[in-house]
Amino acid sequence: MIPKSHPRYESLLLRDKMVKASKEGYLADSAMIAHGRGEAFDYLIGEKTTYPAKRAMYVAVAALLLSNNPVISVNGNATALACDEIIELAKSVDAKIEINLFYRTDDRVKIITKLYEDHGFKDILGTLDDDIEYLNDIKNNRASASKTGIYSADTILIPLEDGDRAEILKKSGKNIITIDLNPLSRTSKMSDVSIMDNIVRAIPFMTKIAEDLKTQEKSVLIELVNDFDNEENLKESLEQIKLKE
Ligand code: ATP
Repeated sequence: MIPKSHPRYESLLLRDKMVKASKEGYLADSAMIAHGRGEAFDYLIGEKTTYPAKRAMYVAVAALLLSNNPVISVNGNATALACDEIIELAKSVDAKIEINLFYRTDDRVKIITKLYEDHGFKDILGTLDDDIEYLNDIKNNRASASKTGIYSADTILIPLEDGDRAEILKKSGKNIITIDLNPLSRTSKMSDVSIMDNIVRAIPFMTKIAEDLKTQEKSVLIELVNDFDNEENLKESLEQIKLKE
C-alpha cells in the first residue's frame, strides 16, 4: 500500500496500474517505456493540467460533438490507466471506442475486449471478429481499422498514440485529436488538436466539458474549432515545461 502522504502518491498509483496490466498480459513490451516518457513530461509540468491543455480540450470536445462518426482509439496503456473514464467520455460525446494496437496480437485484443465489456461497454470495435479494413491500402497492422469505426470516422481521438500510426491516420484525411504529454512528439505535431496532459486528468475533464458544450449552440462549437491554432497552442504548451525550481 502506498501511503497517501507520499509526495509521488498519484504517480505511484499509476505505476501500480501499469504493473497490474502488464501482469494481466495486455501491454506491449515497450508500454512501460512509453509510460516512463510520459511520466517525465508530467513531472516537468508539475503534474497539473495547464491552461493550453484546457483550451485544447474545449476545442477537442467541440470537434467530437460536431462530428458525424467520432471514434476514440484505445491501446493497452490508455486502457490500463483510464478504461472507465474513456467509456464515460464515449457515452457523453456519443463516440465509438475502437481497439487499436501497434503491436497487435490476438491475446491482447481478446483481453482488452473483455475488459471494456466487463466495464459495461458492449459495442467495442477492433475486436477479433470485427470487419477490418486497411487505410490507404497499407496492408499492415499500423493501418488496420474497423470498417464502421476508424475506417469511416471523421474525427478520431488517439491518446498515447505512436507517431507512425498517427501519420497514417492523418494522411487518410481524418481530423486527429491526441492526448500526449510530450508536446514534441510526432503525434502531437501532426495532430489537429494536441492536448498536452496526462490521460488520467484529461479524459474526465473532457467529459465535464462535454456536459457544458452540449448545452451550447452549434455555432459556438464551430467558432471554438475555427479559432484554434494547434501550432501556437503547442508552443504555449512547451512554455509550461519548467526546468528550474
Ligand atoms: P512519436 O512516435 O509520436 O514521436 P513516441 O515515440 O514517444 O512519440 P510512443 O512511445 O509510441 O510515442 O507513445 C507514447 C506517447 O504517449 C509518448 O509521447 C508519451 O509522452 C505519451 N504518454 C505516456 N503516458 C502518458 C499518459 N499517461 N498521458 C498522456 N500521454 C502519455
